[in-house]
Amino acid sequence: MEISLTAGQLERLASIAKDALPNESCAFLLGEDGTVTEILPMRNIDESQVSFSIEPRELLGAYDFAESKKLQIVGIFHSHPAPPAPSGTDRKFMEINPVVWLIYSNTEHTFKAYINDNEVREVAVRITG
Ligand SMILES: [Zn+2]
Repeated sequence: MEISLTAGQLERLASIAKDALPNESCAFLLGEDGTVTEILPMRNIDESQVSFSIEPRELLGAYDFAESKKLQIVGIFHSHPAPPAPSGTDRKFMEINPVVWLIYSNTEHTFKAYINDNEVREVAVRITG
């Protein structure tokens, strides 16, 4: 199990994370078969350094957009002002949203990915192109 992104997409996510500081940022990763083709930045309505929430209408808009482009939501991205490990809250929401969760650390400048299928485990981040 892995998630594939281009180096350019990872740079864009890192810059989304930096722009949101000191708060967490979030985005949907759309694509097919674990390969990201579109990044949809979302607004973190928590405006928090320890959590993120997406406004329900924006969430529905993202699902509509994905459907109109015939893309899947292959991942949920968010950033941490801490190491890129899922928090207790993340783990709870990962259970409800069993897609790949990609986390960027604003302190370590690294990406890590996880999925919850019965248990939380790490997913490889493959950089293409
Ligand atoms: Zn988190």
